[in-house]
Amino acid sequence: MSRIMSTAEAIKEARRCLNCARPTCRTGCPIENNIPEFIRALGEGNIGLAYETISERSNLPAICGRVCPHERQCEAHCILTKKQCGIEIGSLEMFIADFAHDNDLKPIPASSGMRGKVAVIGSGPAGLTVAGDLAKMDFDVTIFEAQTEPGGVLLFGIPDFRLPKDVVRREIKELLSLGVKIKTQVLAGVDFTVDDLFAEGFDAIFMGTGTSLPRTLDIPGKELSGILTATYFLRTVVLADEGKLDESETILHTGDNVVIVGAGNVAMDAARTAVRRGAKNVTVVFHKSEAEVSAFRTEYNAALQEGIQFSFLKQPIAYFNKKQMRALNNIRRHAEQGDETQVAGLLLQNITKTPDGEFVSEGGQEVLPCDCVILAVGQRPAARIVSTTKGIQVDNRGFVITRERPYGMTTRAGVFSSGDVVHGPATVVLAMKESKKVAAGIAQYIDAKKLIEDCSF
Ligand SMILES: Cc1cc2nc3c(=O)[nH]c(=O)nc-3n(C[C@H](O)[C@H](O)[C@H](O)COP(=O)(O)OP(=O)(O)OC[C@H]3O[C@@H](n4cnc5c(N)ncnc54)[C@H](O)[C@@H]3O)c2cc1C
Repeated sequence: MSRIMSTAEAIKEARRCLNCARPTCRTGCPIENNIPEFIRALGEGNIGLAYETISERSNLPAICGRVCPHERQCEAHCILTKKQCGIEIGSLEMFIADFAHDNDLKPIPASSGMRGKVAVIGSGPAGLTVAGDLAKMDFDVTIFEAQTEPGGVLLFGIPDFRLPKDVVRREIKELLSLGVKIKTQVLAGVDFTVDDLFAEGFDAIFMGTGTSLPRTLDIPGKELSGILTATYFLRTVVLADEGKLDESETILHTGDNVVIVGAGNVAMDAARTAVRRGAKNVTVVFHKSEAEVSAFRTEYNAALQEGIQFSFLKQPIAYFNKKQMRALNNIRRHAEQGDETQVAGLLLQNITKTPDGEFVSEGGQEVLPCDCVILAVGQRPAARIVSTTKGIQVDNRGFVITRERPYGMTTRAGVFSSGDVVHGPATVVLAMKESKKVAAGIAQYIDAKKLIEDCSF
C-alpha cells in the first residue's frame, strides 16, 4: 500500500535504486511506465522531468499510485524486493503526481484536434486513457458519460478512504486540460446511438462502458428488503458522504449485523465501508477457501485488521425473514413490522475442497443472523449500446468481442472497445494497458480512413 512521503523521503528512497542495467521493474508494469527513468530523475531532484516521464505513459498517475497492486507488479520485480528492501515505487509515483499537481506542472501541451474526431463513451479508467492518449496524439476527443461526473468506478466505486475523490477529480481535470471535451448525464443507447455519433461526423467511437449490471443470488427470499449489491451500496455511500443523498437511502444502519457475500476487492471495499458506517459485525461469506480469496492481499489483510470476520467454504442457499428466524430459534413474540419482508438471516451450505481441488457440498448447514446482506458476486455489462447498434457482437456472457487489427476494433467498423466491458471486471491498470493499445489502434484506423478519403476523387 502506498504511503505519503515528504520530498526529502522521496528523494532518499529514489536514491536507493540500483539503476540496474536490465531493469525488471518496468516489465512488471502493465503500462510499461518508464520507472527507472522517473526514479533517476527524482533521485537527482528533477521532479518536473520525473513527472514528464510518467506522463508519457500514464494519464492517471495519482490514481495508479494509490490503487495499483504494486506489490504484485513493479515492486514484485524490483531486484531489491528479493532482499526484503524493494523500492517503494507506488509511493514514489504518488509523490511525483501529487507534487506536480501542487506545483501546477503541465508537461504536455493541449491537443490541436487536427487529426480526427473521436467519441469516447464512458469515463472510467478505460475511457479516460483512450481520451488522454488520443488528445496527446492531436485528436479532437469528446467524452459522453451517463453519470453526473466522470470517473466511473474510480469515483463511484472505490471508497474515499482508499482513493480520495479530490484526487480523482483533479487528475481528470488535468486530463481534460489536454483539450478533451465532456458531456455528462447522457446515456448512450437511450439519449443517442452510435449511429447518431457517426452521423455527427465522428471518425471513430470508443466504448469503455464497464460492467454496470451486478450479479445477484437467485435463491429463496431474494425479494426481501435489506439485500443489496455492493456496487449500489458503495455508490449510495459516496453520494450520501457528499450530501447528494439522504443518509437513510444507504440502507445500512448503525449497529447492524452485516453479511457480505464474495471475497474480491469489491467485497473488501463493501465490508470496510460497512465498518466505517457503524455496522456492529461484518462477516464475509465465501464459497471457497482462504487461498482462493481474489482480493488483493493488502486489502484482505486490511479487512482482517479492521475486525472483519471471514467464513470460508460456505455457500448461501436461502435468505430468511424475521418470522423464519424467530421460528428457527423457538422465539414466541407478537408480530413485528417487517416480519415477512425484512432479511434477518442467511442459510449457508457447508462446502469442502476435495483433494482434486473441487468444491463440493458437505451436507451440513448453518444460519447466519443478519440485518443486511451485501452481494459482491460479480458484474456484467449492460446491453444498451449493443442492443441499439447493428453489428457489435458480444460473447455469450455479454462481453464485447474485439480484434487484434486495428487493435480493439469491434465487429462494427469504426467502433472500438476496451476495459471491463471487454475482458470482464479486473483492475484499473489492466483497463489502462488495454486502452493504450486501443488508442493506438484508433489512431491507425483514422489515419488510414483519412488517407483513403484523400485519395478518392
Ligand atoms: C468497488 C470496486 C473496487 C475496486 N478496487 C480496485 C483497486 O483497488 N485497484 C484496481 O486496480 N482496480 C479496482 N477495481 C476494478 C477497477 O475499478 C475496474 O477494473 C475499472 O474501473 C474498469 O474501468 P472501465 O473504464 O472499464 O469501467 P468503469 O470504471 O466501470 O467505467 C465505465 C463508465 O462508463 C459509463 N457508462 C456505462 N454505460 C454508459 C452508457 N450507455 N452511456 C454513457 N456512459 C456509460 C459509466 O457510468 C462509467 O463511468 C475495483 C472495482 C470496484 C467495483
